[in-house]
Amino acid sequence: MKLSIVIPAYNEEDNIQLLYDELTAVLSTNGFDYEILFIDDGSSDSTLQILKGLQENDPSLVVISFRRNFGQTAAMSAGFDYATGDVIITMDADLQNDPHDIPRLLDKIAEGFDVVTGWRHDRKDAFINRKLPSIIANKIISWTTKVSLHDYGCTLKAFRSEVIKNIKLYGEMHRFIPAIASGMGISFTEIKVNHRPRRFGTSKYGISRTIRVILDLMTVKFLLSYATRPIQVFGLFGFISGSLGFIIALVMTIQRQFFRIPLSDRPLLFLAILLIFIGIQFISIGLIAELQARTYHESQSKPVYFVRDVYRDTRESMDRST
Ligand code: UDP
Ligand code: MG
Repeated sequence: MKLSIVIPAYNEEDNIQLLYDELTAVLSTNGFDYEILFIDDGSSDSTLQILKGLQENDPSLVVISFRRNFGQTAAMSAGFDYATGDVIITMDADLQNDPHDIPRLLDKIAEGFDVVTGWRHDRKDAFINRKLPSIIANKIISWTTKVSLHDYGCTLKAFRSEVIKNIKLYGEMHRFIPAIASGMGISFTEIKVNHRPRRFGTSKYGISRTIRVILDLMTVKFLLSYATRPIQVFGLFGFISGSLGFIIALVMTIQRQFFRIPLSDRPLLFLAILLIFIGIQFISIGLIAELQARTYHESQSKPVYFVRDVYRDTRESMDRST
């Protein structure tokens, strides 16, 4: 079993050497067959030079250098594209994740889990702007995606490569890989991992990340639940809104025609019109989204299902393939 360790690094010059030493010590004492993929995400310090220096003396090191800063998610995707291992492990370059947790992640993979995520149960970051938003976000994400994890944000995770190779990442989505993968029917678990304070360099994120994560969550939720049947979300809203508007308009028409109650001075009329319009809009968006969903799946021959295995009579299938 070969391991690929994927590590995005953005301006981490003081951490690289220490991380490399600690990581390779853990990997070689455990006798793993491994490669380490560092992705230099357009650093403006000497991160790339240090990585290139290490790479010259170590054939198991792969350094991918980005032309500019594309973000942590993009860096991880690049790592996944270049990884050749059977198991992919992601971690931060800032020494906050502890390489000594890697063997424990792999034990869980060996037990049969497809995804193992780290839980920073004793997280060493500021409380108000990091830990508190994270606690709330984890609750919301667990609740909306129905994939219950204590810590979506922990980068230290292990994946079977077939899981990761089927996932495309956009925006800030790397943290949602377990939720996206659950849509494929994979099995996952979490283990408590060590977390250390940042010693060198600065964090690349602030409080604004929370908002971006919530927006990404909406995308993930939509993709997970409705990507193959958008009319059922939009159409439902449209139907409810349109019907409500129609009923109000109908009542007002009857009142006007048979009871001589004038239509003037009745704001309700505007509500009825608004609701009918919104209803038509939503249903139209739903129909357009249905077309989009077909384009999306069929243009890339993306199946709407994921097969684990196919059991069938092999003789027959060989006949058919000849
Ligand atoms: N990172 C990156 N590109 C970016 C921002 C961050 O590759 O645009 C890397 C960074 O070098 C680190 C990891 O992503 O290895 C996590 O970043 P950071 O430690 O700043 O996040 P925090 O731990 O504060 O959530
Ligand atoms: Mg960090």
